[in-house]
Amino acid sequence: MFVKTKLALAALSLTISFAANAEHRVLIVEGQNNHKIWPESSPLMKGWLEQTGLFTVDIVRTPPAGGDMSVFKPDFTAYDVVLSNYNGEPWSAATEKAFEEFVAGGGGVVSVHAANNSFPAWKAYNEMIGIGGWGDRMESAGPYLRLREGKWVQDKTTPGRGGAHGTRHGFQVEIREPAHPIVEGLPAVWMHTEDELYDRLRGPAMNVTVLASAYSAPETRGTGEHEPVLMVIPYGKGRVFHTTLGHQMISQKCVGFITTLQRGTEWAATGKVTQKVPADFPSKDSVSVREP
Ligand code: ZN
Repeated sequence: MFVKTKLALAALSLTISFAANAEHRVLIVEGQNNHKIWPESSPLMKGWLEQTGLFTVDIVRTPPAGGDMSVFKPDFTAYDVVLSNYNGEPWSAATEKAFEEFVAGGGGVVSVHAANNSFPAWKAYNEMIGIGGWGDRMESAGPYLRLREGKWVQDKTTPGRGGAHGTRHGFQVEIREPAHPIVEGLPAVWMHTEDELYDRLRGPAMNVTVLASAYSAPETRGTGEHEPVLMVIPYGKGRVFHTTLGHQMISQKCVGFITTLQRGTEWAATGKVTQKVPADFPSKDSVSVREP
């Protein structure tokens, strides 16, 4: 009996110290998105992050489209990382400025899928995400990033739209920077669940490190190019992790999506990653799906 009590106490103290280690504060921004899963996908991502024991996550909602955006003024400085699940109308000038100061001062940003469709006219935001799509992004939005002889180069000459995707399908993701903490130790190639493979994104494309890419095959109405899917970008003292993955719920239940989201968010918070590669990580040819 005494032994059992001691064990129970030991487990309790372990739980408490575990919670105390959840030192990174994350704010998920949502409220408008052409991806109608957003009321489900924000709590899903909150759960993936909190399961690591590293994060506490709040969710803040903007007014709906057509609403008074001046009332949306979260205190970004209360957080280590802002994760955008937002694709909608511009924020107020004051909130844009607060966000720029937060990131420039060392705050972290995670941009998920259609978050890179947002704010085509906001210069600093486009510098943060590196490249984005839709919202009338054309040549003036900036170059494409193209893989040429093992290096990512800016394509400033090819005309055409910024942002597209072929038919939804599962595809292989290939690691390009295996020494980067977010992808270190992951299989060099892994199979992702059904998703949109974003292509022809355009933007300032300054200081973008492409961590992983995927081949956009003509057979799935793609570009015949490797397209960036995981990226990191510095902004002032801040760090941005940009994933183009995550169109639908099954895309966000891929263990490859989950693991890179968890690691990318820790890296955005601290510049380091302490998380191990999970045993159920997908292989080159087979997907791996986790339920919350
Ligand atoms: Zn999508």
